[in-house]
Amino acid sequence: MLKLDFHPAGRHFLQIPGPSPVPDRILRAMSYPTIDHRGPEFGALGLQVLAGIKKIFKTEQPVVIYPASGTGAWEAALTNTLSPGDTVLMYETGHFATLWKKMAEALGLKPEFLGLPGIEGWRRGVQADLIEERLRKDGGHQIKAVCVVHNETSTGVTSDIASVRRAIDAAGHPALLLVDTISGLASADYRHDEWGVDVTVSGSQKGLMLPPGISFNAVSKKAIDASKSARLPKAFWGWAKIIEMNATGYWPYTPNTNLLYGLAEALDMILGEGLDNTFARHERLALACRKAVTAWGLEIQCADPSVYSPVLTGVMTPEGFDADAIRKTIYENFDMSLGTGLGKMKGKMFRIGHLGEANDLTLMATLAGCEMGLKLAGVKLAGSGVQAAMEALTTQKKKPDLKVA
Ligand code: PLP
Repeated sequence: MLKLDFHPAGRHFLQIPGPSPVPDRILRAMSYPTIDHRGPEFGALGLQVLAGIKKIFKTEQPVVIYPASGTGAWEAALTNTLSPGDTVLMYETGHFATLWKKMAEALGLKPEFLGLPGIEGWRRGVQADLIEERLRKDGGHQIKAVCVVHNETSTGVTSDIASVRRAIDAAGHPALLLVDTISGLASADYRHDEWGVDVTVSGSQKGLMLPPGISFNAVSKKAIDASKSARLPKAFWGWAKIIEMNATGYWPYTPNTNLLYGLAEALDMILGEGLDNTFARHERLALACRKAVTAWGLEIQCADPSVYSPVLTGVMTPEGFDADAIRKTIYENFDMSLGTGLGKMKGKMFRIGHLGEANDLTLMATLAGCEMGLKLAGVKLAGSGVQAAMEALTTQKKKPDLKVA
């Protein structure tokens, strides 16, 4: 039996930017008995989730579902489309962009890492003009793919993917566009087809409100064509066999049956709310969260208001305060987990997740936990963030001024 006595009364506040709390409806759906993955009931479930997930990616094209974490789907995107030694243009938005680049190196690709210098690049989204400029210089079309992270979970910065598409087109370059929206999907507006993305990578444990364990590649026709001649080794990750078997709702291996029950339920919840309503709810909560941070007198990690993330808010801690010590104080006193600073931001920031099933009261409780924890840790606050957030939520109930701090 798992020992859970480290959780005191009430529920643990899991306010990291994923995994996000799993709603009771989904937990219950996942507790159905596991069925034969070659039997008729499973085929119906497979077809249901494969059709439903396309609506979330806003695509008419295949979405491949893997029983793997997001990292697996990163690898799948690269190995299905590229060959050893291929140059790929990647963009440094933060820790996850850096990890994807390291993976590309490990796979024998040649990633070029664009970005603004130092911390500045981790505080702003992708600068599409830098991508266009670089592609224009690549007359011989050595660059085979452009890889960007849509919602950088390490910073709370969302990038404008449509602008990256426009940059590639303006340069008249044939490179594929590969996008990681592992933490953006189903929380931040995302349009695989309209934005001309060739492979979109995502995962289950963020906006989809599922536990970790399934991940996705939404693929374009151009990506599928590229996969026919791509020479990086792949077996488990290969799209062709999976897409072939998905036509009847099955997989070439044992799929993650109970997580797929959960996915069916999550799709029902999200599509029931309406995707645009889901996005508006996230924008509204994010706005209230930013109001709180500003009222505390602390700095938001994202320095460009036009790309504030609706999924999470990165909070920079004042000089002399270790962000992880503050997180520890909050965890120990209020049973709440906040995201740690990653990579270059270690110790300098914490991250508040407001994704998935987040609502007004979960946000308010989260901010109260932060405010009390900051005070206990000795941070001198300029004012009450809780008060400011309540003000925002009560005055901006229906139509929030979405991108204003
Ligand atoms: N990319 C982003 C933007 C992420 O947020 C994460 C995980 O948080 C990953 C990639 C890696 O995914 P996973 O940890 O599910 O393998």
